[in-house]
Amino acid sequence: MKQSIYGLTLDQLTNWLVERGEKKFRAKQVWDWLYNKRVADFTQMKNVNKSCLDLLTQSFTIETLQEEIKQESKDGTIKFLFKLEDGNVIETVLMRFNYGLSVCVTTQVGCNIGCSFCASGILRKNRDLTSGEIVEQIMNVQKHLDQQGKEERVSHIVVMGIGEPFDNYDHLIDFLRVVNDQKGLSIGARHITVSTSGIAPKMYEFADEGIQINLALSIHAPNNELRSKIMKINRAYPLEELMKAIDYYLEKTNRRITFEYILLKDVNDHKEEAEQLADLLKDKKHLSYVNLIPYNPVADHPYERSEKESILTFYQTLMDRGIKCGVRTEHGTDIDAACGQLRSKQIEKEKARKKKKLQAN
Ligand code: SAH
Ligand code: SF4
Repeated sequence: MKQSIYGLTLDQLTNWLVERGEKKFRAKQVWDWLYNKRVADFTQMKNVNKSCLDLLTQSFTIETLQEEIKQESKDGTIKFLFKLEDGNVIETVLMRFNYGLSVCVTTQVGCNIGCSFCASGILRKNRDLTSGEIVEQIMNVQKHLDQQGKEERVSHIVVMGIGEPFDNYDHLIDFLRVVNDQKGLSIGARHITVSTSGIAPKMYEFADEGIQINLALSIHAPNNELRSKIMKINRAYPLEELMKAIDYYLEKTNRRITFEYILLKDVNDHKEEAEQLADLLKDKKHLSYVNLIPYNPVADHPYERSEKESILTFYQTLMDRGIKCGVRTEHGTDIDAACGQLRSKQIEKEKARKKKKLQAN
């Protein structure tokens, strides 16, 4: 299978072409056709010479994803289900905010981290996405916007779809470099957020990349006992290690970090946990922001959404202790917009269909 050219950074494409005897400036021309004119076929790249186009056609494709489902919610959120070339399906979500259009991308087919509250964790990781497949999610959403003719552009990206981005680190970094490139989509680093469940060694590496991209840590519990219960990754990288990695990140980048905290009824939503969280963050409160996330119930999972009152108390406790926080507004709840939900429903449907067919035979 040919790989998508979207997977190459501009530097990689330049080197690739130069190694094959083409002029350096050809890479910029190709890049312009891909990301600014957004053509879907090499033959449309009018100012590129034939030998260069032949080389590209022999080695790459442009588009590899197929749109299976596109669901639009009342609030303008659009959820895309894409089929990969090997038949696996992934989801991508477009959300509208007053500050711009944000796309939530998937980085893996399934996830091996297996957090107890997450729909993506039920289905184990099948494989990592290539950098091309991650970039293509953004391109497909952008092409959808282009077709609407309103000259809208994807302005923000959150790497919060299915998968653990730091478990697919190299492809993640290439993806970030492609979408951030000023000669292409030019999506500002400060408008991009990568969320991790807390793979400590990769948090150090990320801090050392020298890119201004935001980091979010899915913390979800303020002590190891509780965190290990709901996120088994905490047994490998407990809170002390994560806090050390965060300190390193803050020292290196001086960028604010977001802590995501899903509120699970009677599990992690007591005032006591809010106090513990405030203690944990007290020495870095000037660079911390806690995003309180209302839980999106997932079939077969034992958790429930916290009561409004518990959410308010939790919020107020953090604020009283000087920790900046907010409650995440929800998008597309009428269309299964929680991480991995549409995909797992689709897979269930497919299984049921196959079973029926077997029975009928
Ligand atoms: N693997 C990464 C990024 C993908 S998950 C991570 O865990 O950070 C993105 C966010 O969605 C995480 O904070 C995750 O905990 C949260 N999430 C997962 N399932 C959810 C659910 N059912 N309701 C609300 N948030 C959920
Ligand atoms: Fe994986 Fe993130 Fe879901 Fe945990 S919350 S299972 S790390 S996608």
